[in-house]
Amino acid sequence: MSVTILIGTGISASAFSHQFKGDVEIYEKASRVGGRLCARNYKEFILQFGAQYATSSNSIFDEYLIKTGAMNHNASIYIEEKNKFEDKNVWTHEEGMQFIADYGFLGKKINFNSEVIKINQKNNTICLSDGTIVDYKKLILSIPHPQALNLLGELDYECSFEPCLAIGLCLEKGSSFELNAIKPSNKAISWIASSRFFNKQIPESVLIHLSPESSKEMYYKNKETIIDFAKENLHNFTSRSLNIVYSDIFKWKFALTNKKMNQEKYIKYSESIYLIGDWINGPRIENAFLSGSSLAMDLNR
Ligand SMILES: Cc1cc2nc3c(=O)[nH]c(=O)nc-3n(C[C@H](O)[C@H](O)[C@H](O)COP(=O)(O)OP(=O)(O)OC[C@H]3O[C@@H](n4cnc5c(N)ncnc54)[C@H](O)[C@@H]3O)c2cc1C
Repeated sequence: MSVTILIGTGISASAFSHQFKGDVEIYEKASRVGGRLCARNYKEFILQFGAQYATSSNSIFDEYLIKTGAMNHNASIYIEEKNKFEDKNVWTHEEGMQFIADYGFLGKKINFNSEVIKINQKNNTICLSDGTIVDYKKLILSIPHPQALNLLGELDYECSFEPCLAIGLCLEKGSSFELNAIKPSNKAISWIASSRFFNKQIPESVLIHLSPESSKEMYYKNKETIIDFAKENLHNFTSRSLNIVYSDIFKWKFALTNKKMNQEKYIKYSESIYLIGDWINGPRIENAFLSGSSLAMDLNR
């Protein structure tokens, strides 16, 4: 039994991997890094389906963000409830937010398409979806609470997650959405942003996040119905008719946690198992980052 095993490659795992001085073996169920930092390419377009921007109030996170190539800027966001624009200091990445997570894994080997389906705490092993059994000395879970609970069997920690449906619309050249970003007070939609929000060079797309309520209502509808629903609601926010050349959706089952700021940054579950992620220290990218980096710093001692 030799290694420290890290499950997941979201920003909390990335922060852990970046700071941890020992060897680490990484397993990720998806085919790429980032977790909820997730953009997809369509031709020259970038559809940023997951988190839109990071905020930072911590110098360690600031330094990390600079190294990833993220941009710090003031973004004007229209807040419908107040009927005014607010300037917010944000970090975005012009290639997509997953590049912020990507940086923490530089030089590390990641086992992609490797879902951990079972943890055997008695003999310190994990089982992967292809049946492979791997020993661990220390096991770090950087996955959302419901998935951690499922693997561990019990977890004495209250927390819930809401789903989110993300819809991306690629616009024909010459067609443009008026505003960079909107926080609607509308019950159906919680966020709308043009790709100008993070990159002014690429062909424009518009990203829409449905509210938790409408995400739940629409979750099992087909793709076309979800896209039509988003387009109908988008009309309330633009006087222009948009020419859409391509559209796609992304379903987040565990998108947003209700967990507010907590004192503890990570959970020591047992002598060999630790939990990190946004559901422990707070619901944002920065909190997830600090969760992973705090654990790494403590284990380095
Ligand atoms: C639509 C949306 C918009 C958001 N907007 C913002 C925003 O603008 N600003 C902000 O600060 N935050 C935002 N957030 C929240 C932010 O994205 C999260 O707080 C943060 O990314 C969480 O990182 P994490 O490392 O804790 O978890 P995750 O990013 O969820 O990472 C978990 C990883 O574990 C992998 N995994 C899960 N189960 C297994 C398994 N059994 N085996 C192997 N791998 C597994 C997953 O594939 C994933 O890669 C948003 C989230 C969503 C979904």
